[in-house]
Amino acid sequence: MNSYSKLSKNELQNEIEKLEKRYNAFKEQKLKLDMTRGKPCSEQLDMCMEILDIPSRELRKAADGTDTFNYGVLDGLPEAKELFAEMLDVDKSEVIIGGNSSLNLMYDAVARAMSLGILGSTPWSKLDRVKFLCPSPGYDRHFAICELLGIEMITIDMRQDGPDMDTVEKLVSEDDSIKGMWCVPKYSNPDGITYSDRVVDRIAALRPKAKDFRVFWDNAYCVHHLSDKPDELKNILTACKASGNDNMVYVFSSTSKISFPGAGIAAMAASVENLNGIRKSMTIQTIGHDKINQLRHVRYFKNLDGINLHMKKHASILKPKFDIVNEILEKELGGKEIASWNKPNGGYFISLNTLNNCAKEVEKLSLEAGVVLTKAGATYPYGKDPKDRNIRIAPTLPPVEELKKAIEIFCISIRLVSAKKFLEMA
Ligand code: PMP
Repeated sequence: MNSYSKLSKNELQNEIEKLEKRYNAFKEQKLKLDMTRGKPCSEQLDMCMEILDIPSRELRKAADGTDTFNYGVLDGLPEAKELFAEMLDVDKSEVIIGGNSSLNLMYDAVARAMSLGILGSTPWSKLDRVKFLCPSPGYDRHFAICELLGIEMITIDMRQDGPDMDTVEKLVSEDDSIKGMWCVPKYSNPDGITYSDRVVDRIAALRPKAKDFRVFWDNAYCVHHLSDKPDELKNILTACKASGNDNMVYVFSSTSKISFPGAGIAAMAASVENLNGIRKSMTIQTIGHDKINQLRHVRYFKNLDGINLHMKKHASILKPKFDIVNEILEKELGGKEIASWNKPNGGYFISLNTLNNCAKEVEKLSLEAGVVLTKAGATYPYGKDPKDRNIRIAPTLPPVEELKKAIEIFCISIRLVSAKKFLEMA
């Protein structure tokens, strides 16, 4: 079919009539389809079940003799650090193991800077204003941390190769109240974009006016490939060292979407100086995290090869789901010039842009036919998408048949909302 912009009034009316029939047929089915969050599906979780079958005697003693059943070891077992060091391509001296959630580590890092400052700087909470750069669309929970702690958010446009670096460079060099920047550099949430080498180099070479400026590099999807030709992400810690910015970045990751969300292990990587600063307050926060779970993960995955092998099995389940979504989007929306979307090589999301000022209506219409989508606007600071057009599709959780129906309803909703807009203008 032609672009909707070229349809006559009559053609648009016919189109709306046909779409409404399809829409109502779905509505009568009283479906309840949840597409809100990027969770692994139950088959993915099944694949890791044996991690819980490792006999307790094999989990008791770490390589250095530590009794994992007892207190001790503040920042992680050496073998857990080695596993993350390999995964994040850093030295094990640059790794701290956390608890079960990288988001928790990120929250702690921001809250710590607010209450205590960073490496001797004034605590951010004592300053008049604190701002973060937020490449958007981005991860809603990053933005929620800023909102809760009263940090002003500045939206930065996302391009196909990462954030708009001209704006980032200008802002951080001029304004010392800009203290941080959120980045999901690989298979970004929600765009599925991997930052180019040039963008990584430009981030590493920033000259921030604030000496306690930190890049929050959330590498949540570092091994979550959907293709045999994975995207390559340049190493930010190495690039920062090359630019004399050793302390400028905090890297975060976890096994949440490798083993079990909520029962995996999280880690942070940064310069030794940064980590020593963090240990000073971490030692007051906790006596140590769950070493039994750390050892369980090490025994099960062994090394990066083990993780990669496991992630190939995940991809064998997820790739067909992403393919189905793409096929339906293409079939329903292709050529109509009413939506554009990304075809990521990994991660958990497909990000779709409708025409301007349509996303909220699409969300509402989909909901009335039984499909719950991630809230339109959620991918922007303060939940406000200035163009009201971005919708995050999370295809991983629903079974294939449900996914097909959900995406079809979603597409019909986009077509209906768009056709009605064009009819209003005709
Ligand atoms: N970062 C990003 C970009 C994510 O998409 C998610 C999960 N949705 C998380 C962090 C949460 O990770 P964790 O379970 O380790 O807290």
